[in-house]
Formats: sequence, structure tokens, C-alpha cells
Amino acid sequence: MTDAGRAEWTLPDGEREAIREGLIEWYEADHREYPWRETDDPYEILVSEVMSQQTQLDRVIEAWEDFLERWPTVSDLAAADRADVVGFWSDHSLGYNNRAKYLHEAAAQVESAFDGDFPETPAALQELMGVGPYTANAVASFAFNNGDAVVDTNVKRVLYRAFGLPDEDSAFEAGAAELMPTGRSRVWNNAIMELGGVACQKTPRCDEMGCPWREWCQAYATGDFTAPDVPTQSAFEGSRRQFRGRIIRTLGEYDELEADTLGHRIRVDYTPDGEFGREWLEGLLSDLRDDGLVEFEESDGELLVRLRR
Ligand code: SF4
Repeated sequence: MTDAGRAEWTLPDGEREAIREGLIEWYEADHREYPWRETDDPYEILVSEVMSQQTQLDRVIEAWEDFLERWPTVSDLAAADRADVVGFWSDHSLGYNNRAKYLHEAAAQVESAFDGDFPETPAALQELMGVGPYTANAVASFAFNNGDAVVDTNVKRVLYRAFGLPDEDSAFEAGAAELMPTGRSRVWNNAIMELGGVACQKTPRCDEMGCPWREWCQAYATGDFTAPDVPTQSAFEGSRRQFRGRIIRTLGEYDELEADTLGHRIRVDYTPDGEFGREWLEGLLSDLRDDGLVEFEESDGELLVRLRR
């Protein structure tokens, strides 16, 4: 889709609630378990956010647990020696030591300027040392359920593919805000980031991860999985892998299918002599046959396809 075609974006009519609930239910049914997702303590969440800025999440878990064992509360951290906090940061390979200094400074601010209680809005949280708009919003969302819709690279990729938003920051911000159900930033921001993190990755895993937005998703319907951070070539490969998967799953439901019937079942824009038509389908089927997964034969002028069992 061209950017001009994306300019007039709106959510599908009358589907807003289904889109929202679909994502929340998908997230609540299963998601990656991180210990900071089990807490609503703003201090613990701030520590996790600062640590995750430069370190892979799986590695952050141990550092986060050690940090909180050593300085369990914001007042413990505020009272700590700066050198000990910086030393901890280096020992755990957490990236720029300045982040440790800022975190220590922020803890002191909470104690001195806010009487030990974290501020609860994104704007007020940004007054803390080293806390930018993204981190402030994350703490407001996950600790106080009081944030705005998160817009990061993952979220942009999802919105661009699913609803055809143009690649413009203002469009992503408006679209993300419109989608988020009022007063549910905690679950919503977790859910949409999880969708971008495990399903709508650069190479999408729509079916494999049971993406709840497949019925509305423009990329899923057309097979065009390009996104602001996805070059055309890898999208092409992702799309090809995806349609191979769809063919296998669809054939698994039938003894055999006529090729054009199969084509219509795996993509809504299938037309036998179109760009994504018979030639395209037969290319995929030949590859799958070479891999020993399907077989097909001509019968009465029709091409019949089935799984190789
Ligand atoms: S259907 Fe696929 S491309 Fe569309 S939002 Fe879901 S994971 Fe992303």
C-alpha cells in the first residue's frame, strides 16, 4: 500500500470493541512471564525500565532481582552510596553507568521532593532525573494504570501492518491513542507490546502465535508484511513462509482441494490470473512438493492438491 493510500486511516467500523477485547484476551491467555509484570510498585517498575533500556530482557531478570534484594525500597536506594550503585551497574554489565547515577538521583528526588511517594502521571514522572517520556509513561501505565498509549518500534510495526497507518509519528500516536481502551493502560500497553514482540515480529508469526487481529489485519490479508523497520526483501521471505504455513494448515482440514479453491482459502485477494494467482500458488506448491510436504495431480482439467501423508 502506498503512503497516500494510508492517509485516510480509521479503525474498522463497529469493530473497535472486538479489536480491543481480542487483544486483551489473547494477552491474558498467555504471555512471557517477567517478574516486573507481577508488581505494581513504581520503584520496582522504574528499576526494570531503566535496566531494560540497553540490556536484553532475559538478562535483566537476574540483575533486577539482585538490585531489589540489595535496595528493596526507594528510600533504601536514596540512602545508598553512589559508588555502590554504580559498582552494581558495572558488575552486572548494564550499560552506561550514567543510568545508575540517574536512578540513584531519582530515588533521592522521590524522597525529598515527593515525600517518598512516586508521582503518578507521565508528566510528573518526567521530572525525575533521567526519566524520559517513554519511561515515565511505562511507570504511569504499569504502576498506576494511568498512562498514555505506548508507541515504540514494535507498536508502530503492528499498527502499520494491521490497520494501514501511514509511517508518520503523529499518525501512530493518534492511532495508538484511539485504540487504547480508556483507563486500561496497564494491560493494554503490555498486550500491544507483547503482540509486537512475539507475533508481529519483523518476520511475522501470525498463525503460529494465534494473532487476535488476523481477521482485520491488512498485511495478513494481502501478504504484504513490509513495515517501517522491515525491508522489502525480508518481508517477502516472511510472506512466503507464512503462505507455505497456511497451505499446510488448510490442506490438513481436507482430503484434497482444487488449487484455485485452496488459493481463495489462503488469501482474500487471490485471483487465478492476478499477481497473487495461480502462477504464484503453483510456485509455492512446487517448493512444498520438493520438500516432500504436498502432492498434486491433474484430473479432468483440475489441479488437485493434498498433503503427502
Ligand atoms: S496478523 Fe500478523 S501481521 Fe497482522 S498484526 Fe497479527 S502478527 Fe502482525
